[in-house]
This record gives sequence, structure tokens and C-alpha cells, in this order.
Amino acid sequence: MSTKLVVGNLKMNLISPAERESYLQSFQKEFASKKIDNTEVVICPAAVHLEQFAKELKMKAVSVGAQNAFWEEKGSFTGEISPLMAKNAGVSHVIVGHSERRKYFAESDEIVNVKIKAVLKSGLKPVLCIGETLEQRNDGSMAEVLTMQIKKGLDGVSALDVQKAVVAYEPVWAIGSDKTPTSDELLQVKILIRKTLADIYGLENAEKVKILYGGSVKADLVKDVCLEPELDGVLVGRESLNPNEFLKIVEIIDKK
Ligand code: PEP
Repeated sequence: MSTKLVVGNLKMNLISPAERESYLQSFQKEFASKKIDNTEVVICPAAVHLEQFAKELKMKAVSVGAQNAFWEEKGSFTGEISPLMAKNAGVSHVIVGHSERRKYFAESDEIVNVKIKAVLKSGLKPVLCIGETLEQRNDGSMAEVLTMQIKKGLDGVSALDVQKAVVAYEPVWAIGSDKTPTSDELLQVKILIRKTLADIYGLENAEKVKILYGGSVKADLVKDVCLEPELDGVLVGRESLNPNEFLKIVEIIDKK
């Protein structure tokens, strides 16, 4: 059975060192009370916290991810961090193409693609976020949108490298909204993602890519909607700010 994956996206939260320490302590305490056998947990704090998270979260099943990284290694790119900088801070994964970055920072599929390649070049694992808006869902272009986001996002990525990638299906309308797809809809999307990957890389390689769901994930939703389509895990936003609730989600995914 392949390992499951639960990613927590803390976004622009934990605004002081005190808040960070309190989060880390609570996470460590909650984690110690759980028995997690077959799930990797990746926590993605804001860039200023990466190093401290990596220093303090030393549990075998837990690693640290960045929420974003630039496509160059170093140089005059004010305000950015590179995948190599993130790696040197102790990071293993980088979220790329989150819908908030696509919306607020105008990240196109082309930008997502160069970032994915830079992340892989640095030896890190990209978590490629894809997802349709409500408008695209309603006008019937959803399958085309998702297919193009995968094809363009992974353009030029080799079959060997793609095996390190994770695809997170995060419908834009579900993020932060408490609206979610049904388990049947998730199954359809999982099949679409797998088929798109298989068309490019062949089924054997495509099956090595983990497929996650993200969008208003809570423990109950995981039980009701995410288990049946047999996804490889979930990407959690708001609930990851509460270690108790977040680790409940991890436990449900792990025991499946
Ligand atoms: C996200 O933004 O990646 C996300 C899944 O957020 P939320 O769980 O808060 O909807």
C-alpha cells in the first residue's frame, strides 16, 4: 500500500514567534498522542518560519513544505525565496500554483511550469495545485481547464521527475467556502487527472503521482467524501491551524 500524504497550508498566519512556538508545542503534543503508520505529514508555514519548523519538527513522519518559491536559484529578485534556499532551510515540498497565488499574484500556467521545474531541479517535491472556478464549473469547461493546468504545469517535466510530483485538486469555489464536491465528483476528477498524466507519461509513471483533494477539508468531510474515491490524501487550509483538528484528519486518512 502506498504512503498517504496530508499537507497543511498555514498560509499567512502565526504572526509572531510566540504564536509560532505555541503552535509547534501544541502540534508536537498532539502528534505524540497519535499512532500514524502510513501517512506523511507536510506542514507549510510562512517563509519566515520554515527554518524553525524544520528544526523543531523532527518526527519521522513529518516534514516541512514552503507555500511558494521563485524559479531562479539566487540573485536580484527582491522579496522572493528560491527552492534552494527553502531546501537549505530544511524543506522537502513546495506548493506551486495555489489558486490564491494565481489570483493575487497573477501566476499563469507558464509561471507555474517554470517554478515546478526549479523545485524539481533543487531536489524538492512540487505540490501542483489545480482547480476550476465556479464559472468554469458552470460553463462546462472544467475538464478542459484541469487538463490544461496539468499539461502546461508539467510541460517539459520528465517521466522520472513527475514521480516526485503531487497533484492537488483544489476547486477554487471550495477553498475557504465550506462548499465541497461530492465523492462521486472527486472520483471523476481523480480519474481525469490520472488519465491526463497517463496520456503524457504512461500509466505506470502516472500511478506514482499522488493525487490529493483540497478545499474546506474537515474531519467529517474526509469521512463522508474523501475516503471513497481513494485519493492519496488531502491538502488542508484553515483546519491545519488547529493541530488537534488537523491531526484528526491525518488519523482518518492513515487508518483508511
Ligand atoms: C487551501 O487554501 O489550500 C485550502 C484547502 O483552504 P481551506 O481548507 O481553508 O479551504
